[in-house]
Amino acid sequence: MYSHPTALVIGAGLGGIATAARLARAGFQVRVLEKNEAPGGRCSQLVCDGYRFDIGATLLLMPEVFAETYTALGERIEDHLELRRVDPTYRLHFADDTQLVLTSNLNALQAQVEAIEPGSFGGLLRYLVEGHQAYHLCLQRFVGRNFYHLPDYFSVQNLPLLFKLKALVNHYDNIGHYFQDPHLKAAFTFQNMYLGLSPFDAPATYSLVQYTELTDGVWFPIGGIYRVIESLVSIAEAHGVRFMYNTPVKQIEVDGNRATGVVLHDGSRLGADVIVANADLPYVYSHLLPGRAEASRLERLQYTCSAIMFYWGVDTVYPQLGTHNVFLAGEYRASFDRIFRDHLLPDEPSFYVHAPARTDPSAAPPGQDTLMVLVPAGHLDAGITQDWNALQARARSAVIHRLATSAGIDDLEQHLKCEVSYTPRDWFSVYNLAKGAAFGLSHSFMQVGYLRPHNRHHRYGNLYFVGSSTHPGTGLPMVLLSARLTTERILKEAGVPRPALRLRPAMAR
Ligand SMILES: Cc1cc2nc3c(=O)[nH]c(=O)nc-3n(C[C@H](O)[C@H](O)[C@H](O)COP(=O)(O)OP(=O)(O)OC[C@H]3O[C@@H](n4cnc5c(N)ncnc54)[C@H](O)[C@@H]3O)c2cc1C
Repeated sequence: MYSHPTALVIGAGLGGIATAARLARAGFQVRVLEKNEAPGGRCSQLVCDGYRFDIGATLLLMPEVFAETYTALGERIEDHLELRRVDPTYRLHFADDTQLVLTSNLNALQAQVEAIEPGSFGGLLRYLVEGHQAYHLCLQRFVGRNFYHLPDYFSVQNLPLLFKLKALVNHYDNIGHYFQDPHLKAAFTFQNMYLGLSPFDAPATYSLVQYTELTDGVWFPIGGIYRVIESLVSIAEAHGVRFMYNTPVKQIEVDGNRATGVVLHDGSRLGADVIVANADLPYVYSHLLPGRAEASRLERLQYTCSAIMFYWGVDTVYPQLGTHNVFLAGEYRASFDRIFRDHLLPDEPSFYVHAPARTDPSAAPPGQDTLMVLVPAGHLDAGITQDWNALQARARSAVIHRLATSAGIDDLEQHLKCEVSYTPRDWFSVYNLAKGAAFGLSHSFMQVGYLRPHNRHHRYGNLYFVGSSTHPGTGLPMVLLSARLTTERILKEAGVPRPALRLRPAMAR
């Protein structure tokens, strides 16, 4: 029990900011230490000659989880975010020029899937029912709660659910119960990439992503995903949180069973009752904490893929592109093997293009376009040769060629006004992501729930974790849930009462 509790949060990613704000609202004095010059981590923003890019996340799913965060902080989401629903959700381009426009308009979807595979609409409806069941069961029983002991997870009540949720069934095999056509099988499994997983490895449970996209919708805040970061930072500051940028933590100091403080890169020391690490969990064990045993164990776990990124500002508009566009490779399975087994770039890469100005014109100068391209690639692997300069150049040519052949965009290079690119090495060096894995630790069966690295250190009882590589996992909604679960655990273990749910009058924007 602390009388005037203090906390240090290492990292101002979404998880760190949300936890800091929640702790401050519960009465903690909180400082957030961020290595970079601005908050956001994987939700940072890049502005170049009037073109505005979100660095990482572009799809806002499960808006109710976002709304819960604002409510818990005494705010109303609509006072901070102007959310727009994006529908069609994606334009899908297959290698043989077949196209599919995914949409929540089931009549429009029915006509398209029936044209590809007659009779398949019934399969789609059954698939969505399965996704609905997985979504609600997962949220209630596995994702939205802390597991303090193994029997809580593998309880008599939960064990039958593992079968009901098809947690041990491979997603791509399972899709064969609903569709036979390879285009449709790909269209409803590629979303596993958002979790950094191959559909050939992912549990069938993850059909819940497709369900939530088509029913709860895909959303985008005006101003970009970075608006979420800006608004949560301002709410946290209003609760007294102090953000310190350009402040990399070099070491977490420990004494016996407690973490006593942190050492910064300039050698200065800061102490607090509670330390919360939002920096990627495997990196914290390997770089900030003493002892190698747990760090080595974590290194051997499975990691998600990485991504080669292109941020392109162009002085024209390409009407061929929607807000979200996916260009899938012909060799669907082989391309996943190249990423997840070989840790390289497929010979013919699939990729995603985000054109935010379709939804939010302020993302680009008038009459121009802002394009973010994500090419999934293997994570860093010290055991093989990975020439990232060559892979980046190959990814760039492949994207430019495919945009020309599949979307008729054959003059992109003439219109390029601004170009920035990231490789897995940048994810590693800019945000300290272990192995440059863009989505953190993988979500295989053995790495979720109680089996995922816990949100409190097993030895140092006042050292907590929040973010993608702890429970429940990656993606913005999961990270916001992680912030709630970590905060609940801290308050419970520190004997601090949870703040009452009371809304404050709207804050000035
Ligand atoms: C390319 C890409 C696309 C994505 N697309 C989506 C999407 O569309 N929708 C979605 O929901 N999710 C998406 N995600 C996932 C989502 O962005 C992440 O799960 C989420 O942003 C992670 O937040 P976090 O708080 O866990 O970690 P981070 O954002 O990584 O924050 C950790 C912070 O810690 C800081 N830090 C690290 N080391 C130190 C240190 N020593 N000292 C001080 N600070 C330190 C880092 O600089 C960083 O700011 C995407 C991710 C990527 C990379």
